[in-house]
Amino acid sequence: MNEYKECRLCGRECAVDRSNSPMGAWCGSSDTITLAWAGLHFGEEPPLVGEGGSGTVFFSGCTLGCPFCQNYQISRGGMGRQITDREFLDIASRLKAMGAENLNLVTPSHYIPSLVKLLPEVRQAGMPVVWNSSGQERAEAMKEIFSSVDIFLPDLKTLDSRVARDYYRFAPYPSIVEPALREMADRRPLKISGDGVMKQGVLVRHLVLPGELDSTEEVLSWFSKNLKGRAMLSIMSQYTPVVSPEYPDPRPNRYLSEEEYDRVVDMLVRYGLEDGFIQEWITGCDWLPDFNRTNPFSSELSRPLWHWERGYVGK
Ligand code: SF4
Repeated sequence: MNEYKECRLCGRECAVDRSNSPMGAWCGSSDTITLAWAGLHFGEEPPLVGEGGSGTVFFSGCTLGCPFCQNYQISRGGMGRQITDREFLDIASRLKAMGAENLNLVTPSHYIPSLVKLLPEVRQAGMPVVWNSSGQERAEAMKEIFSSVDIFLPDLKTLDSRVARDYYRFAPYPSIVEPALREMADRRPLKISGDGVMKQGVLVRHLVLPGELDSTEEVLSWFSKNLKGRAMLSIMSQYTPVVSPEYPDPRPNRYLSEEEYDRVVDMLVRYGLEDGFIQEWITGCDWLPDFNRTNPFSSELSRPLWHWERGYVGK
């Protein structure tokens, strides 16, 4: 069955035909994998980075619509290039040769039917696969991907449908992500090697939104009841009011305050979740990626291999 013909891969259930055309698809993607960038990344959580770095592959298009997306150029701006299956596998194998600890697929959900065919070869080559997604794939689509993925790195953006509607442009998000995360943790128990590198498991990320700490508290409470001890947690404090052409008025229109950051730290203690990861309190936008550059990130954090416009750029 060609699931691109009447696409219902994610909770949006657009039911459009993506064969050869992205027309009508919320994610803006046809049935051909489109990539923006690939390279080693050292800025992920330590169990994903290890010594060699995480072999990140950034897909173009996205099933959500966050007005403040830091990757706006590629998620909604159309930046990227279509590649063949052979090119995808070649990129994975070159990342492995560069020393990557894993193949980290960033926002891959809208390409599940293509990836289920390609990922077995990557895993056979001894590279763990990381599924780095917003967590809003439909359960039917997730069933297909489980056997091809070692590590799940889902977001848990919110469990509040108002917040999901206002900030992520998708009110039903909580009802999809919540069971998906429980199933990920059931099916992929944590396995960490002696040197602290994650070989299997689930690491949940939550971005704290300024002014919406009740939503963060709900997420932490849920995590402590459902996933504590079975999955890792990473709290992100880097919210940046990015201005994009589509959303010139970002909301929230400010950074997280220091007082809000401290309140989140208190919550982590209260829920017994201090053993996860939390970013330092940061403001400013110098770190924002720019996918026009060969290396969209800072040079200490990443080593480029492939760029959508320039092709292979690594040594
Ligand atoms: S992946 Fe999701 S957003 Fe994209 S066309 Fe399919 S249902 Fe729509």
